Amino acid sequence: MKANEEKLNKRNIKPTAMRELVLKVLTDQKSAISLSELEHKFEKADRVTLYRTLKTFEENKLIHSIDDGTGSVKYALCLDSCMCNPEELHVHFKCVKCYQTFCLSEIPVPGITLPAGFELESINMVVKGVCSNCK
Ligand SMILES: [Zn+2]
Ligand SMILES: [Zn+2]
Repeated sequence: MKANEEKLNKRNIKPTAMRELVLKVLTDQKSAISLSELEHKFEKADRVTLYRTLKTFEENKLIHSIDDGTGSVKYALCLDSCMCNPEELHVHFKCVKCYQTFCLSEIPVPGITLPAGFELESINMVVKGVCSNCK
């Protein structure tokens, strides 16, 4: 738990038992997790508390949200140094067999040049295919 407490402090998130538990679940996950999936891992916590925890994590850039086209937003941990700037965005991979969405943290989203007057806020790049577990 000590490492997780430090991780929260580093992102200016006050460590609470609940936040540490959610962080632990997110750390143990190899793929991104939706609010509903997170809810299934907690018997006693209600959805609102979990949702607020995720939002706090997201606002403080401990996690990022992913729109993988399934209609439910998924969340995954950011790298320690990540500030979620556009140039730090990475590609996500959605497996068509197990329906898991993975962060390809090593693969940056390619830069694009927008027409004059357009301002970039974020890029969402989801690649679909079969993951190494399902191959
Ligand atoms: Zn898969
Ligand atoms: Zn990611």
